[in-house]
Parts: sequence; C-alpha cells; structure tokens
Amino acid sequence: MQDVIVVGAGPAGNNAALSLASKGYGVTVIDSRENIGDKLCTGLVGEECFRRHPIDPALVYREINAASVIAPSGEVVRFETPLPVARVVNRVAYVSSFADRAREAGAEYLLGRRVVDLEQHKDWISVTTDDGSIKARTLVLAAGFGSQLNRQLGLGEPSDYVVGIQALVRTENIDEIEVYLGRDIAPGFFAWLVPTEPGIALAGLLVRKNAPEKFVSFISAREAEGKITETVNKPVCWGIPLRPLRKTYTDRVLVVGDAAGQVKPTTGGGIFYSLLASEVASGALHQALSEDKLSANHLGVYQKEWKNLLSTELEVGYSARRMFEYLGDSHISSLIHQASNNGFIAELADSPEVSFDWHSSMIGKIAGHPTLGGVLRLVNPLLARMAKSPEPAGMFFPDQLVAVESEVTMAETGTPV
Ligand SMILES: Cc1cc2nc3c(=O)[nH]c(=O)nc-3n(C[C@H](O)[C@H](O)[C@H](O)COP(=O)(O)OP(=O)(O)OC[C@H]3O[C@@H](n4cnc5c(N)ncnc54)[C@H](O)[C@@H]3O)c2cc1C
Repeated sequence: MQDVIVVGAGPAGNNAALSLASKGYGVTVIDSRENIGDKLCTGLVGEECFRRHPIDPALVYREINAASVIAPSGEVVRFETPLPVARVVNRVAYVSSFADRAREAGAEYLLGRRVVDLEQHKDWISVTTDDGSIKARTLVLAAGFGSQLNRQLGLGEPSDYVVGIQALVRTENIDEIEVYLGRDIAPGFFAWLVPTEPGIALAGLLVRKNAPEKFVSFISAREAEGKITETVNKPVCWGIPLRPLRKTYTDRVLVVGDAAGQVKPTTGGGIFYSLLASEVASGALHQALSEDKLSANHLGVYQKEWKNLLSTELEVGYSARRMFEYLGDSHISSLIHQASNNGFIAELADSPEVSFDWHSSMIGKIAGHPTLGGVLRLVNPLLARMAKSPEPAGMFFPDQLVAVESEVTMAETGTPV
C-alpha cells in the first residue's frame, strides 16, 4: 500500500508529489493523459511564481512588462511596468518539469489511466482506474476542473465557473499582450492575444456562455484588422472555477488546485495558487502521515492554512469580478479613459501594489481612487464598502448579480477528461 496516491498530474498534483516524495513517502501519481501538462492554458506565470519555481530559460517564450488594453470604445491604453511582472512559458514543459523532479525523488507515475472510482475505508483509500485498483493511506485529489471525483467523495464542486476558449494563431506585428474588453467580445470578462514565439500567439477569451460564437467573432475582427492571419488549430474550451469548494478535505483526502477552486477569480489564472496550495497540502499530509492521524478532523488544518494564504485574494477578487461583470461598455470605456488620462495607470504601473498574482491591493487602490472609485460607486454601491473596508469578510453580492450564475451550462465545457 502506498502512502499517497495523487490523482492528476497538473501543477497541483505534480508539486504535491514532488514535495511528499522528497520527504520519503511512497507516492503514485495517476493521470488519464499520456502527455503531462498538455491541458488548455496560456502559460502565463507571475514573477513570484517563477522565482519560487523556476524553469529552464530556454522554455520561456517571453518576459512580460507591457500590455495593451483595448477598451470597448476602441481606445488603446498601454500599461508598462519598469520590470517584468510575468512570463509566458511553454506550459507543457513547465508542468512536466515538476513531474520530472517528482520522479527523481521517487514518485511513480501511471499515465493514460483514468480514475473512475474512489472509496474511503477505515484504514485506506481505494482508487480504481480503468486498469485495476490501488490502495493508499491517503489521497491528494488534483484532478482539475469538472472532475466527478469531488462529488463521489461528497465534496461537491465550485459554485461558480467561467468557460475559457483558446487556439494558436499566426499573427502580424503582435509583440505584446493585448487584452480586449467589451460586452460584444467577452461580456463581463476579457479576450486576449498572447504572443509566444515570433509570428505566433495564443488567442482566447473567457465567457459565461456562447464561447465558440464569441471566439469566432473575436478572431474574425482581428483578421479584419490584419493582426491574425491564420488559426492554426481548432479552438478548445475548458472551464475555470471562480469560487473555492466549501470543504477541501475529508477522511484521508485533500483536494488541491482547480479541483478545489483555488484560482484567481479576476483573471482565471490558477497555476501559482495550485502550486501554493499543494505545498500547504503536502505540509499538512506530512504531519498527519507521520502521526498516523488521517481523519477529517486532523486534515482540516490544510483548509485553515490555505485559506490564511489565499482567501483574502479569492474573496476580494471575486467581488471585483462580479462588479466588473455588472459594468456596461460605456462605464468600462470611461474608467479606462480616465485612468489613462489622469495618470493613474502610470502611477499604478510604478507602484508596489502591481502584482501579477496578488490583486487585492490593486483592487483596493482602484476602488479608493477619488475619480475611478466615484464612477464605480455610482454603478455599484458595494464598491464603496470595499474601498472603505480592507477586510473582505462579510461581503455579499446583490441578487441581480447572483442570477447570472444560473445561466451557465456545463455542456459548454465539453466532456471533462
Ligand atoms: C483557456 C485557459 C487559459 C488559462 N491560462 C492560464 C494562465 O495563463 N496562467 C495560469 O496561471 N492559469 C491559467 N489557466 C488556469 C490553469 O490552467 C489551471 O488553473 C491549472 O492548470 C490548475 O492546475 P491543476 O493541477 O489544479 O489542474 P490541471 O492542470 O487541470 O490538471 C488536472 C489533471 O488531472 C487529470 N485528470 C482529471 N480527471 C482525471 C481522472 N478521472 N483520472 C486521472 N486523471 C485525471 C487531467 O488529465 C489533468 O492532467 C488557464 C485555463 C484556461 C481554461
């Protein structure tokens, strides 16, 4: 019997496996994919993530210290920071590098095996794949978005999510990230062109519904502008959780990464938070395994610790996200115009609050700005509370915003792996 079975060889699962195998535990990682890390993603990671989890520089496509935001009005505002804030990496190579190190530390990988059933017993967990069953003392569930396995364990699923769609495109003169806003393009969210290698970019958008249609019009508009010359592969859709699970542990089990909803609700980026949460999870499991105290009561410390680390970001980010979804095109265009003309964007770019991964202080700065905060307060009084209170606890969402959630259908995400 293994000490730990990890289901899912994404950033969360591989990092947990690396950390636990390095501490001497017997670890088996199971993934239904043959090619580790080959999951829909843009591969943008912030500098802090990159510093903590570096990658061979040859596998970094670009350093990012500038991006253009295109307002619904068509106004283009460029945001430039003195130093790089993020990098675009080869995502498959980045995620695989964690698996390589986990293997070196002794973890065993079973690829191309789909986990179909999980059973909790008094003294072990039984994991059934399409190729037989394995037992372990504990389980790390890191199966990403849309996994049925959460539900099998009675842990439910994140209560809100968005659909991402993306394809590789050939481009002309796209050397910096472009972010597009507007209800016609990606209502409540955004679309992107992220250059990787010369003449190639990832084009995508986040949206609650009609992702394929929105994607086609986004690409057509960029083709008409001469920015995109060809779509190289078929666009792929996948979901991104916007809210965490209520409970991310049960007897002998911890849930990490997208499966737990540990994602920035502002942008849908989840690599860094998955890595952070998997470190917390492996610390908690190490303690529990060494004392052989593996009940939910003992494993609850994991949730307390990851919440200490991430819950302010998740709460403030989700509030900001819902308010942004509520803004009309004219509000967004006006905010961007004002921010660009009153020097706020330049001030923000130079300020220590700018971080690719930690957004709550930036959100506080925007909400507290006399002009920008004023426009937003007109639109939604909830923002006034946010600007005043540094404490995210106790926030609530107006009923009309909550209603948007029910319009999302799982069918749009395709068949979960
Ligand atoms: C379009 C798009 C763009 C994105 N861009 C970025 C970005 O630029 N930066 C960023 O930080 N985040 C981005 N994300 C989010 C990011 O990809 C995820 O947050 C991150 O991959 C989560 O890691 P994870 O390990 O939790 O899950 P995943 O990476 O999803 O890994 C889960 C693994 O579990 C496996 N699995 C699932 N079910 C089973 C099963 N039953 N049996 C066996 N194996 C199973 C899957 O094959 C998969 O390999 C993007 C997401 C989308 C959709």
